[in-house]
Amino acid sequence: MTESTQKTNLLGMSPEKLAEFFDSIGEKRFRATQVMKWIHQFGAESFDEMTNISKVLRQKLNEVAEIREPEVVMQKTSKDGTRKWVIKTEGGSSVEMVLIPDGDRRTLCVSSQVGCSLDCSFCSTGKQGFNRNLTAAEIIGQVRIAIKSYGAMDPSGERRVTNVVMMGMGEPLMNFDNVVEAMQLMMDDNAYGLSKRRVTLSTAGVVPALDKLGAVSDVSLAVSLHAPTDELRDQLVPINRRYPIKELIAACNRYLDHLNDKRVVTVEYTLIAGVNDQPEHARQLVKVLRKLPSKLNLIPFNPFPNSGYERPSDQAIDAFKQVMLNAGILTTVRRTRGDDVDAACGQLVGQVQDRTRRSEKYIQLVQQEAAPGQRAGH
Ligand code: SAH
Repeated sequence: MTESTQKTNLLGMSPEKLAEFFDSIGEKRFRATQVMKWIHQFGAESFDEMTNISKVLRQKLNEVAEIREPEVVMQKTSKDGTRKWVIKTEGGSSVEMVLIPDGDRRTLCVSSQVGCSLDCSFCSTGKQGFNRNLTAAEIIGQVRIAIKSYGAMDPSGERRVTNVVMMGMGEPLMNFDNVVEAMQLMMDDNAYGLSKRRVTLSTAGVVPALDKLGAVSDVSLAVSLHAPTDELRDQLVPINRRYPIKELIAACNRYLDHLNDKRVVTVEYTLIAGVNDQPEHARQLVKVLRKLPSKLNLIPFNPFPNSGYERPSDQAIDAFKQVMLNAGILTTVRRTRGDDVDAACGQLVGQVQDRTRRSEKYIQLVQQEAAPGQRAGH
């Protein structure tokens, strides 16, 4: 074991856990607030920077704790300003995260797992299988890395990341505790201070975990529906065989009921040519969405090698959208962003270290690692 793995990593700790940590080393609990601000608002890399903490305590912290964030192995910026990072997690696997600027907004799309176990038929992340859950530090570390990429963190609290969506690699509800802990930090005033409306968890529909989420959190919710009937959804989103549409819609309504405001669920629907993009599907979808306060986000399928699927024509996308709008359903079509750096929805792959699959991207990554001088500034 290396020295660093024996130290406690404070990066991903919720306020309560951090307070307990200080308790456990015989220090006052309020130190947690000070240290959280240093880590998440000022981007401190070491305890030595924490000037409102005594030298003696800093020394003690150096001995027992650390601030360890995942290593960035690659960063690319798309022509449209979208930035993608590949970060190496403990154990050597990598995941991706994407920052999407849009007017005043900067939305960070965060990964929650290395790979994914749900195996949705049109998602490239699912194709590589599941490796492991990210730790809370690896999840919140993505937010910190994105903010730091704009230069020094701004102590006055100007936020360079305005929204976070848990829509990167993985199924966030299958990594429940770590995701909840990281989202707590996203919303904590002593950390990133984002409002609950600006933190969105997206799920393929793990119904029991959704109920559990309602008991502990009030983040905004997005649901990946992708099909209006169980017959079709069973094929595209296999977890539907366990939790069919009716149960999922009921769980979404329970989630909305527990929020004491007028938020709605964002329903995501990836349009795939000839599979779920016909006017008949749109009409069936209207019926499903009548049962849920929601807005619809249509995502034209983003192709990846050997997917076996195609993106519908612009006319087909438009026709689908029109059926929904005519039925009075608030509908948007997600613009493809970051396509030229493979940062679009469903194109995030990262690399799972211990699988035999060795894609071209993996080889590129390894080559770049071997030549560190070439890594930065793509
Ligand atoms: N597991 C969660 C989080 C992933 S979010 C979920 O399923 O919601 C990523 C979103 O992009 C999901 O709605 C997913 O279904 C969609 N997606 C996946 N692959 C895609 C592709 N190739 N083209 C367009 N959208 C895709």
